[in-house]
Amino acid sequence: MSESLDVVIVGAGFAGLYLSHRLQESGRSVKVLEQGSDVGGTWYWNRYPGARCDAESLAYSFSFSSALEQDWHWTERYAAQPEILAYARHVADRFGLRSRIQFDTRVVSASWSDTAELWTVETEAGEIFTANFCVMATGCLSVPQRPVIEGLDDFEGNFYQASQWPHEPVNFNGQRVGIIGTGSSGIQAIPVIAGEADHLTVFQRTPNFSVPAHNGALDPTWVDAFKANYPAHRTNHKLGNGSGFGDLDIEPRAQMIDPILFESLSDGQATSLLEEAWSRGGARFMAAIGDTLMNESANAFVQRFVHAKISEIVEDPVIAEALSPTSHPIGTRRICVDSNYYATFNEPHVRLVNLRSDPILKITANGVKTESEFIELDTLVIATGFDAMTGALLKMQISGREGRSLAEIWSEGPKTYLGLMTAGFPNLFMITGPGSPSVLSNMMVSIEQHVDWIMDCLSDMETKERHSIEPAESAQAAWVEHVQVVANSTLFPQGGSWYLGANIPGKPRLFMPYAAGVGPYREICDSVAREDYRGFDFA
Ligand code: NAP
Repeated sequence: MSESLDVVIVGAGFAGLYLSHRLQESGRSVKVLEQGSDVGGTWYWNRYPGARCDAESLAYSFSFSSALEQDWHWTERYAAQPEILAYARHVADRFGLRSRIQFDTRVVSASWSDTAELWTVETEAGEIFTANFCVMATGCLSVPQRPVIEGLDDFEGNFYQASQWPHEPVNFNGQRVGIIGTGSSGIQAIPVIAGEADHLTVFQRTPNFSVPAHNGALDPTWVDAFKANYPAHRTNHKLGNGSGFGDLDIEPRAQMIDPILFESLSDGQATSLLEEAWSRGGARFMAAIGDTLMNESANAFVQRFVHAKISEIVEDPVIAEALSPTSHPIGTRRICVDSNYYATFNEPHVRLVNLRSDPILKITANGVKTESEFIELDTLVIATGFDAMTGALLKMQISGREGRSLAEIWSEGPKTYLGLMTAGFPNLFMITGPGSPSVLSNMMVSIEQHVDWIMDCLSDMETKERHSIEPAESAQAAWVEHVQVVANSTLFPQGGSWYLGANIPGKPRLFMPYAAGVGPYREICDSVAREDYRGFDFA
């Protein structure tokens, strides 16, 4: 039996929730298919100890409903995973979205029929849904990457993957714990696990730059004053030339702030700006000197500043050096935001194993064998990242015109127009897809922008009696090139990061997100729409 709909959405994270709300409001029939047992997407799965957002709560939230933004009370500057999940559940309940969501449902394929001009979406259980439009709201970091390490499956102790954490509480008391992976997830989990475990061994291959969160309870007076200016702040987040995290001063700043360039600063001035940003805390540290991601000298200066901070915090100079990244410019791998990460290595029961000098040879039933020693463990945690941006899309069999598969068309890297659609796949939208600011931005800002753009597009198509939309090959090729030109004008490609697919063996290397900032990107999308969807073909 198949169900026929206007729109099928895959994924009930924040993107799926907001889009289903807008579609319901517009009177269209919609079904959301979600593999988890509840809403929340990344915040449903990533329950590891210490998991919290690296964007500030007042900015990492929906802006589409002023009643919602006024009513919801965030308790901390950076909300922890349970609070964000509670927010996602609240949104689902408040806007009556659950009745359209089918949980515990994994989509295995989506195929376009050239004759019927419909998408057919099939689930693992064999259910079939047909729809005029299919929207992939599948998230950018939703397919965990399991490392290739000999013997990983042989470990007989407790084993946990950060991004697939159990729903029951995990207790590390009295245990010898090992953790592999020192990206954002590992850096958040390590101090918390160290607080419980008898002994913690951190297996680090590449050190990452991390800045202090200075997290804490939000002051209700500050929150009230900020919320009094919420519309102006939201406009600022959406139209600014940065990543959409915006300022969180009570008085909103100008939208397009002229960046302070490194060459205009003396060393003393640059250091004071960095000191101020370090003591304020958070990822906005990266914006203290405006061209940190464009200018190698600026970047090297900021790197040295953080190296000095690590040396101040970490008592053992050998460990401090091992924790200090030298393999990539700061910010070209996602900057981490931590609570007591570096200081954790001063604890006598916490050990750093530098895999660069002492690689893992294999994992056995009861521990990890490195080149120089065997470390016995009761528990092993892996925080080894994701097949980012394309992983969830390519895990499904998606086929477009003439049955051509997305995997084949993207075999040299993702090709999209605006990160919203791909040529040859009519009526298939992606939310925060490769080629859009996506993972370089505040996801809530980017999700709302994509959903609003798609809704306007659907209405426009209805008015003009157009049944299908897809990018012209030429517009797509020009956009793919533009995304690369913008990336190559920055230091990002030097990061060797998951932004480029570099963490997955065999994945094509292509810088996937659009690095020009959320404001300029929005302006491009809006101008495309204003010019009768320039670059798109309609049937
Ligand atoms: P990640 O940044 O990709 O880090 C994965 C870590 O695992 C790296 O340290 C990597 O080392 C290591 N690793 C992978 N394979 C390994 C192997 N075979 N042997 C040893 N080490 C190995 O993944 P993540 O920490 O999950 O973060 C991914 C992204 O999710 C973040 O960049 C961020 O965008 C998002 N995130 C956000 C938050 C937040 O909002 N606070 C929290 C968590 C995650 P190499 O670098 O040497 O490969």
